[in-house]
Amino acid sequence: MSLATQERYPLFIDGEHVEPSSEEYRETIDPATEEPIAQYAVASAADVDRAVTAAQRAQTEWAETDADERAQVLGDVADAIRENADRLAEIETRDQGKPIGYAQGMIQGAASTFDFYAGATDKIEGESFPVGEDGVNFTLKEPYGVSAQIIPWNTPLNLTAQGIAPALAAGNAVVVKPAPTTPLPPLYLSEVCQEAGVPDGLINVVNGGAEPGAALSGHDGVDTISFTGSVPTGQAVMESAAKNITPVTLELGGKNPAVVMPDADLEEAVTAIQIGIFSNTGQICAAADRAIVHEDIYDEFVEMIVERAEGYELGAGMDDPDMGPLNHEAHLAEVLEYIETGIDEGATLETGGDAPDRDGYFVEPTVFSDVDNGMTIAQEEIFGPVLCVIPFSDQAEAIEIANDIELGLTSGVFTQDLDTAMEMTKAIEAGTVYVNQWFGGSTASPFGGYKKSGIGREMGMYAFESHLQTKTVSIDL
Ligand code: NAD
Repeated sequence: MSLATQERYPLFIDGEHVEPSSEEYRETIDPATEEPIAQYAVASAADVDRAVTAAQRAQTEWAETDADERAQVLGDVADAIRENADRLAEIETRDQGKPIGYAQGMIQGAASTFDFYAGATDKIEGESFPVGEDGVNFTLKEPYGVSAQIIPWNTPLNLTAQGIAPALAAGNAVVVKPAPTTPLPPLYLSEVCQEAGVPDGLINVVNGGAEPGAALSGHDGVDTISFTGSVPTGQAVMESAAKNITPVTLELGGKNPAVVMPDADLEEAVTAIQIGIFSNTGQICAAADRAIVHEDIYDEFVEMIVERAEGYELGAGMDDPDMGPLNHEAHLAEVLEYIETGIDEGATLETGGDAPDRDGYFVEPTVFSDVDNGMTIAQEEIFGPVLCVIPFSDQAEAIEIANDIELGLTSGVFTQDLDTAMEMTKAIEAGTVYVNQWFGGSTASPFGGYKKSGIGREMGMYAFESHLQTKTVSIDL
């Protein structure tokens, strides 16, 4: 299969390409050129129902396979991802917009994710509890059944891999609903999985927007939901899940504080925050959105980060630039509107702020100084390459600013002092704290949010456990 030759992408249900019952197709656009890449089928509620039914049938057989067999299949998927890495990276770049070198790194990450969960299949462990000599009391862990995976558009291939690998390892089947502006990477990944030996029906892909998403999250044949996306959609998913008491894992937005203490290695902090806010054109839930910088080093920090921002070369992802475009036109408009709001609310635009005069959804790396934490640009997730630099005078104030927000996904502290690092780590309300770096962790590390940034954890054995339910067995001897 090649991007250049395929013009229409049907749905992927029960191991086959099937036409949507609605007969509706939409275009997916290359964000670097604004030209259509291909057409993809839009699933109706009836198609979602077909996918859930296929998943239920496939899951029953899959749950009966032994752990070694599941490990073998998942390990084969990891190998197949590596064998198809160039093709998968190209699809991610063309559909999403990210630089190809960055996409290649993400594809390797997706392969590692499958390897990790291949190793988890034989670690489904229960516990036993003493109940006296006349009885035995223990727990069994069992798969839930069908897992709905609702995916956003910022890193579609990796997030699909992160969603489906633990679900399959634990003996579940999945129905994936990709975002409407990045329908292709999850489809290609599913095909690679099938070619590697994943049984038909175990992975199904129903493309489209809110309608199939809502049909899936409210479907009574869905047994768990893993949703990654914005807070308002997460709330809608939770509401529709409530109808069937379906458990949800929600990975939602972030507006993450990066606190730079006066003793920080400034070069190190600037580099980490630059990577944290400008990677993937700022379209990362874990981005370093708010640099909270001590007043003694504030001016120097601003000068250094502005110089870094101005060094970025923008270009089409396939040319492997420093920064690619935003993913879609409406999102470019949203980011530009936030920049206008920042200027109107009195922040100082130090650099960037414009959309270059060229095709594609490009926006310049942007730095605002003199930001007050109450401003809209400091409170709302922009999901673009826009850094807010906020001054503070003492540690208590830094903590107050860091926590004065409804979200709590990631955070960072830059300091040479271990006591300060640990004090800040304990005080900051976030699911992850990076110390003297940004984007640390591993496939084994749990990832998720405090406060409105979500419920539950993705990655590592936490994600695996979330796909297993506990049955208590009590035997009278
Ligand atoms: P979104 O909430 O608009 O959409 C996410 C997914 O939900 C898409 O597939 C969408 O089609 C679907 N959807 C829309 N309405 C729905 C409904 N009513 N019911 C069910 N599904 C529905 O988010 P987005 O704009 O695609 O992604 C950006 C957001 O994702 C940001 O807020 C970002 O922080 C967040 N995100 C979080 C993480 C994390 O791990 N915490 C990772 C990546 C992105």
